[in-house]
Amino acid sequence: MKIVRTRTDLREALAASRDGVVGLVPTMGAYHDGHLSLFRAARAECDVVVASLFVNPAQFPEGTDLSRYPRDEERDGRLARETGVDLLFAPAVAELYPRGFQTWVEVGEVAARLEGEHRPGHFRGVATVCLKLFNLVRPQLAYFGQKDAQQVAVLRRMIRDLDLELSLRVLPTVRDADGLALSSRNALLSPAERERALALPRALATRDPDAARAALNGLDVDYVEVVDLDPPVLAAAVRVGSTRLIDNVVLEEESR
Ligand code: AMP
Repeated sequence: MKIVRTRTDLREALAASRDGVVGLVPTMGAYHDGHLSLFRAARAECDVVVASLFVNPAQFPEGTDLSRYPRDEERDGRLARETGVDLLFAPAVAELYPRGFQTWVEVGEVAARLEGEHRPGHFRGVATVCLKLFNLVRPQLAYFGQKDAQQVAVLRRMIRDLDLELSLRVLPTVRDADGLALSSRNALLSPAERERALALPRALATRDPDAARAALNGLDVDYVEVVDLDPPVLAAAVRVGSTRLIDNVVLEEESR
């Protein structure tokens, strides 16, 4: 696996492998089995697997957890290599947002509610960095987790609206044995907070918004809502101490 840090080195490294299918897995690092499941899926169907490792400041609204976001690039590099990633793109902030940067992608309605409402500017940052990564890597396939269901909906909208030529692959949410969805932010939870956080998967497992709301009673809930995405989900965001967690479950036709 090769690690590159600049756009020039990335383009150069990719130049030789343009004949086959290029797959991209955008990440912010602190890898867990959710990330690794995306790498494995990409490895299984692509000739070249590119992962990006970039904690994108643009998607963290002012005053949120950018500075405490977990980082461990050495471990990430090892895990990516072991899971079949060919090329790891790990740029500095100034490489993707050089001085003078001032062009942003604003996705409309689908980005306005839920995460968009509680984290203003979040999806503007996500859409912009993903468009940049899509342009730099030019993948035929890009891999995302259902864990961030609204993010997938926003990116699908952007791909359609801006006539991008790539397909998204969306992989199921990977959970710990106790039901908690894997997230880099779980590392920020104390043991007692982690115990309290289990209310989130338990609430969503009811697949019923009222029952879920009741099960989250006592936690600091940003939202718990049925969202008509493709597929429809019951999605929730809660704060446990100073850590914000999101999760969702897919609602099958019969339970709608
Ligand atoms: P992140 O590094 O948190 O930006 O996540 C990178 C990608 O991994 C995103 O597409 C996420 O949706 C996906 N992802 C994060 N957590 C999980 C999980 N528990 N299961 C599956 N995919 C995940």
